[in-house]
Amino acid sequence: MRILIWFRNDLRLHDHEPLHRALEQNAQIIPVYCFDSRQFGTTAFGFEKTGGYRAQFLRESVAGLRQALQDRGSDLIVSYGKPEDEVIALAKALKVDAVYWHEEVTAEELAVDRALEKQLKQLKVGYEVYWGATLYHPDDLPFEIDNLPEVFTSFRKKVEKNSSIYPTFPTPDRLPALPECDRGDIPTLEQLGLTPQSIDERGVLSFAGGTAAGLARMQHYFWEADCLRRYKETRNGMLGADYSSKFSPWLALGCLSPRRIYEAVQAYESERTQNNSTYWLIFELLWRDYFRLVCAKHGDRVFYKGGLRGLDIEWKQDWERFDRWREGETGYPLVDANMRELAATGFMSNRGRQNVASFLTKNLGIDWRMGAEWFESVLIDYDVCSNWGNWNYTAGVGNDARGFRYFNIPKQSKDYDPEGKYVKHWLPELQKVPIKKIHTPWKLDREEQKRCGVQLGVDYPNPVVDLDKSVKANEKIYNAALDRA
Ligand SMILES: Cc1cc2nc3c(=O)[nH]c(=O)nc-3n(C[C@H](O)[C@H](O)[C@H](O)COP(=O)(O)OP(=O)(O)OC[C@H]3O[C@@H](n4cnc5c(N)ncnc54)[C@H](O)[C@@H]3O)c2cc1C
Repeated sequence: MRILIWFRNDLRLHDHEPLHRALEQNAQIIPVYCFDSRQFGTTAFGFEKTGGYRAQFLRESVAGLRQALQDRGSDLIVSYGKPEDEVIALAKALKVDAVYWHEEVTAEELAVDRALEKQLKQLKVGYEVYWGATLYHPDDLPFEIDNLPEVFTSFRKKVEKNSSIYPTFPTPDRLPALPECDRGDIPTLEQLGLTPQSIDERGVLSFAGGTAAGLARMQHYFWEADCLRRYKETRNGMLGADYSSKFSPWLALGCLSPRRIYEAVQAYESERTQNNSTYWLIFELLWRDYFRLVCAKHGDRVFYKGGLRGLDIEWKQDWERFDRWREGETGYPLVDANMRELAATGFMSNRGRQNVASFLTKNLGIDWRMGAEWFESVLIDYDVCSNWGNWNYTAGVGNDARGFRYFNIPKQSKDYDPEGKYVKHWLPELQKVPIKKIHTPWKLDREEQKRCGVQLGVDYPNPVVDLDKSVKANEKIYNAALDRA
């Protein structure tokens, strides 16, 4: 029996049900990863669909998987093209009996699944598809996915009361050798049509792809630096490696399984401490589960202009202002610092993401899909469900949208960056601005500008909009859409 294991966003050997089930049958395993050429094209608004940071992280993760397979006596076949065609070609050439893989829930991925399934049926090759990206398995939810609660809290309470998290599948020690075949090379960034990105020393972490690096990060965060015990208090930070776990890139590509993290939290709770912080990390992972289930329930609607709620909001597609946003030139230091961090590193904190997304949609009134696509392009931890789900939520078009809500940028700046350390980190031109005006540089008079070595409108921009007026104008537009709904 020969079973081809098609790896996708599950680049690991631990907690991998398709692999586990194939090994249970004593099958010869053919591990395959295909770089999907369509993921290296452009998005609807013309951005690189997979930017350089994520592509590099992906390359490293695939290399890590190959190494882990080689260490166990197997190898990874790597190809480039359309996975549905590449997998079929390999299935034919290597005469496999079945193909196993992990399912995804969103349109592009499902289209690949359908195309592959169709061809496998024609070939009379069997296939099995498994669910493996969340903490909770749909089989153990107290409701069908179609009846998923539309409000997160209600979802959380129901699963916490009625469901349990399955244990992880074991990591195999040895694997059967591959038959004679071409193993393929991992494409370079240039071959993927991308320019290598330089590492910006100011970044929160030097992210390296692969399970080994992900596990090392977990070891550091939980056990060595002992950060988990304070996670709830620090998680809204923006500066430094350890205010939050930074697990997201490894989770997005499946180098770490969420259940593996859950088991480590349980071990930490029994060996060190169990408190609000240890609970809160799992709480955040539940958001990740929720967005995946929301996408599974609602299908393509998460990508529509009207969002899950189907609100007909008159969004602007103002490229001049959009470019100021994405380049970090809005004149609002908190927004600009975050956008520059994203562009320079591929990462941004959750606090930052919420603020910049709110600013784009509630202050600039710009089409939220432009922001979501920019994030898709640049984020090292891009996860289709978490990204589009969170954007729906922040733009006020999500399934549980409850009227016009926005982040008050000056208040957020004071609350989360009281001394301006974060903005100074990313906006060197504001280095000498005193704390009192670091978040309101437009209030610097001529004399102060001279003293701080910053000329407004030259070294740092004047505000692109008036915060209060813009919020009021966009609220009107939003409410008009609500009235029409
Ligand atoms: C507009 C917007 C876009 C986002 N896009 C993505 C994305 O593409 N990929 C992504 O992984 N996260 C996304 N997030 C969620 C969140 O910002 C990141 O998961 C988090 O900042 C990653 O850092 P961390 O791993 O240190 O998080 P931690 O605070 O340590 O949280 C632990 C884990 O919980 C999960 N998590 C935390 N917050 C959220 C959340 N709001 N939604 C879903 N999962 C969450 C993540 O898997 C994260 O790794 C987005 C949030 C917003 C507001």
